[in-house]
Amino acid sequence: MVNYKDLGLVNTRAMFAKAVDGGYAIPAFNFNNMEQLQAIIQAAAETKSPVILQVSKGARNYANATLLRYMAEGAVEYAKELGWAHPQIVLHLDHGDSFELCKSCCDMGFSSVMIDGSALPYDENVALTKKVVEYAHKFDVTVEGELGVLAGVEDEVSAEESHYTRPEEVIDFTSKTGVDSLAISIGTSHGAYKFKPEQCTRDPKTGRLVPPPLAFDVLEEIEKKLPGFPIVLHGSSSVPQEEVDTINKYGGKLPDAVGIPEEQLRKAAKSAVCKINIDSDSRLAMTAAVRKVFVEKPGEFDPRKYLGPARDNMKKLYMHKIQYVLGSEGKAAD
Ligand SMILES: [Zn+2]
Repeated sequence: MVNYKDLGLVNTRAMFAKAVDGGYAIPAFNFNNMEQLQAIIQAAAETKSPVILQVSKGARNYANATLLRYMAEGAVEYAKELGWAHPQIVLHLDHGDSFELCKSCCDMGFSSVMIDGSALPYDENVALTKKVVEYAHKFDVTVEGELGVLAGVEDEVSAEESHYTRPEEVIDFTSKTGVDSLAISIGTSHGAYKFKPEQCTRDPKTGRLVPPPLAFDVLEEIEKKLPGFPIVLHGSSSVPQEEVDTINKYGGKLPDAVGIPEEQLRKAAKSAVCKINIDSDSRLAMTAAVRKVFVEKPGEFDPRKYLGPARDNMKKLYMHKIQYVLGSEGKAAD
């Protein structure tokens, strides 16, 4: 049994309250390897931005749960070494799908967990979420629940069809379960193919797909029902076209990959949305850098020579999100 406080981590409670008040959002970046973690911590430390390190069930299976836990502990010390005196770092379980998994994370030093019962019938989602909240709160671990279904594929989470969160359910759900934050569905989507070409229009100049706008009317209705309550957006990568172009130029095959335009995320960050999940963009940044080295320097076989540039490219991306999209720069400076 390890408590997150002993690892120097924080939960999301105070962080979210400040973010809702201040009209910005906290970045939630997924990680499953050292270079990603280094890039996230370097970017957060340099910008003094609070940050949420997210681990999915798939990442836990890939990297080993114990190792990830020690990596997160190491990340706090690394952040201090980089000159961030009081790092505000959350270790969060992304898409927990059972009470047992959430419990295991609470017991292993996570400071926050998501229980995703969104695919269940409403009453079962309420019961499962409530059970996780009751356990997690004993250790002051914060809990994210979800209402509504996002389309797309992310690790073991996938859905063909999305349906928006129903604003009429949010008061009942949050009061019955006691969750600390709520993930909603307003048109974001998991993965690098967030929309099918037939859902988009095409920019006549560039030939690129232009995705449909997010349902801000649904978000507004939810905010009216739950004033000041922390809202979470999943599947919020922007799928930067320059990374997609680099991947395709150097032998990759990602035709018509499309994400959420940054100006829509900027608008969301100013609302009650206080956590924005970004995973695919970092995968794209990593893949683009690795592919480039492989093609330009086919004789290279030292992993540091391609994972190093991959790390630098991810760091650039994380800094950009913090500074120009989420507005969280300098919010963890004291
Ligand atoms: Zn998600």
